[in-house]
Amino acid sequence: MVQDQEVLAAEMERTFIAIKPDGVQRGLISEIVSRFERKGFKLVGIKVVVPSKDFAQKHYHVLMERPFFNGLALVLLFAMVWEGEGVIRYGRKLIGATDPQKSEPGTIRGDLAVVVGRNIIHGSDGPETAKDEINLWFKPQELVSYTNNAEKWIYG
Ligand code: ADP
Repeated sequence: MVQDQEVLAAEMERTFIAIKPDGVQRGLISEIVSRFERKGFKLVGIKVVVPSKDFAQKHYHVLMERPFFNGLALVLLFAMVWEGEGVIRYGRKLIGATDPQKSEPGTIRGDLAVVVGRNIIHGSDGPETAKDEINLWFKPQELVSYTNNAEKWIYG
């Protein structure tokens, strides 16, 4: 039984989610955490980080050519790793479109943000990015595997 649970945990998908400084300063941490939690996803890593500008730019390296790159400051970040079936793709759905003006109501950015430069949250956009971002922000020993007793009610 314990072995089955270990296999389940090993196979479960993980994504990197970060509440950006605007979300932290606006007191939206609990609101955002609760949306992922109520969905049935599992929090397996969490920390408050103050990354250097270099580190923040490493995270956003794919946007290096974009005009807004230098303005992408990640000073103070509530960094998390969430686990669950389909969490990468569905996490992006919970978050909504990059531009809050285009995010559907009911999504985090749709409900809680107004402009693209202050869209309060980041979420990995695919399996490769998720792996890279989790490795960039977390050491393996900072992530936990545990059984949440609600899992049998979430997954059947
Ligand atoms: P997402 O965060 O939805 O994955 P991107 O990876 O395209 O979107 O962009 C990363 C971040 O860069 C966005 O979340 C947003 O904070 C910022 N950004 C994107 N486009 C703009 C823009 N036109 N002006 C200002 N900031 C932007």
